[in-house]
Amino acid sequence: MQCPHCNTNNDKVVESRSNSAGTSIRRRRECLECGYRFTSYEHIEEKQLMVIKRDGRREPFDRQKLERGIQTSLEKRPVSQLKIEEIVHFIEDEAAIREGGTREIDGAQIGEMVLQQLYKVDKVGYIRFASVYKMFEDVEAFKRELDAMFAQNGGNSEG
Ligand SMILES: [Zn+2]
Repeated sequence: MQCPHCNTNNDKVVESRSNSAGTSIRRRRECLECGYRFTSYEHIEEKQLMVIKRDGRREPFDRQKLERGIQTSLEKRPVSQLKIEEIVHFIEDEAAIREGGTREIDGAQIGEMVLQQLYKVDKVGYIRFASVYKMFEDVEAFKRELDAMFAQNGGNSEG
């Protein structure tokens, strides 16, 4: 594959990992010219997973859109691009398992999975994603969630 850094076509595969549903393979590659590392994905094309939106409409699962959403939430946060790719890959994997042969998954389920992952990785990213994607029914529910979170982190402000 062509190196996104120096454009030569001379790389080796460092690592290959299939997801557990067997629907995609992720390859870490290293450019033999400049040493730049990048990732490529193989997907089964005909099995398009559809996401059910809140109004009932369906749209194709878009991993790039998902990645952009997570990237936006983690902007200027200490989280590597590789970690973001891992989250996207994990969610894609989970979605493939949860759709259970229907080729459809509820968008809210994907939102929840993203939130779970972000919660583990970066709390600020978690709050940003939750507020942008309006995962909470109302402002009060969101506030309760925030309060619970900061209570956990030990919010005693002495000293
Ligand atoms: Zn290169």
